[in-house]
Amino acid sequence: MSGFDGKRSFEFLKQLSFPRLSATKSENRAADIIRQTLKKAGLPYKTESFREPTYTNTAASLEVTAPYKKTYPAVEVGFSGNTPKNGLSAGLAVLDAQNHFALQNAKGKIVMLYRLLLNDVYGKFKKYKIPGFIRVSDPDGHLAHLRVNQKLVKQNGKFPGLSIDYETAMELIHKKAEKIKLHVKMNEFLGTSYNITTTIKGTAYPDEVIFVCAHYDSVEKCPGAQDNAAGAVSIMEFARYLKENPPLRTVVLAWFASEEIGLRGSFNYAKRHVKDLKKVKLVLNMDVGGAILGSNGSNICGSKSLENYITALCKEKGIHAAIQHGAYSSDNIPFNTYGIPSVALYRSGGIYGHTPKDESRLIDGEHLKMIGDLGLDFLTRTANAIELPFTLDIEEKDKKAVAEYVKNGRYTPIKPEKDKKKT
Ligand SMILES: [Zn+2]
Repeated sequence: MSGFDGKRSFEFLKQLSFPRLSATKSENRAADIIRQTLKKAGLPYKTESFREPTYTNTAASLEVTAPYKKTYPAVEVGFSGNTPKNGLSAGLAVLDAQNHFALQNAKGKIVMLYRLLLNDVYGKFKKYKIPGFIRVSDPDGHLAHLRVNQKLVKQNGKFPGLSIDYETAMELIHKKAEKIKLHVKMNEFLGTSYNITTTIKGTAYPDEVIFVCAHYDSVEKCPGAQDNAAGAVSIMEFARYLKENPPLRTVVLAWFASEEIGLRGSFNYAKRHVKDLKKVKLVLNMDVGGAILGSNGSNICGSKSLENYITALCKEKGIHAAIQHGAYSSDNIPFNTYGIPSVALYRSGGIYGHTPKDESRLIDGEHLKMIGDLGLDFLTRTANAIELPFTLDIEEKDKKAVAEYVKNGRYTPIKPEKDKKKT
């Protein structure tokens, strides 16, 4: 079967590869392009809007004022708050990564932590009078635009923060930087986001739904070509194919907004469609794809038999994919919380996620098609199976992982282990 047109999807991807920050005008422009494409393809669609806090016009830098003077480039941590006009001055404390116990020795100082995971320490800043923070990226990493989860901000207040690269951090340490100034700026406001869906009605089992999704927003200043224009154009190919080849089960395809600021589009959708969710058997989420130099992966929240089915399909098609279980930090999560199993398929190119370098030049049609073909094949087999070829239960460890994820209101790291993507 070859319904996935790599060339066409790459052309579409180039149209979508511009920064599409959640709930801003740029994200809304991407929504227009998706709707126009659906219209041209003869696919009727629905749009649902919702309001979300967001931010734009960001700027950040780090200034050392003693014992030497130098200003370093940095990027903001979203929603962390603005520093005063002339910057936030304080002493610097370099703490061991993730060690919130060390905060007690850093009272009144700006803390610098390697690979800081905010949900572990942000809640302790108030107690230890920490005025602001610095996150250090991985040695080979690029400065990614991150944000604090809004739940953390609501519970604990704002503490301006920025990210610097590893080499800058080493220079601060070797040159014994003592007094520093943070400059963090962003314009926060309440914006509007749009979820877009199209439905292909099943010819034999219309009340059984296979739900397909991809988010189309990106982070600040990031063209988001791999993450996730790639997924957005892939599911457009799925929709075109299914329109010509109506499946036995109903397939709903959703382009979700505001994923990057905390899965807001998919949570909103799930909340509004609780009744419809009863019909949803499975979610297929396409998030991150297309890298010419990259590797394939699949994350499953579901049963062992679902895993076995994906494994067998990859073998049959001769596609290597690292298969994992757990809570994939993306739009499948809200569905998982309602007990719906999910399969996430992705092709990741590594370290440029959430940076200005996530550009279309690192992608081509052939590699969009690689994971796209697998997705379309899995989808059509599932939507056309006389009986689903796997069970729909979710393994206990996957359920636990999802519950833990939701409870933590997770702060999204840039670059987790290999073969995984963010968020
Ligand atoms: Zn993504």
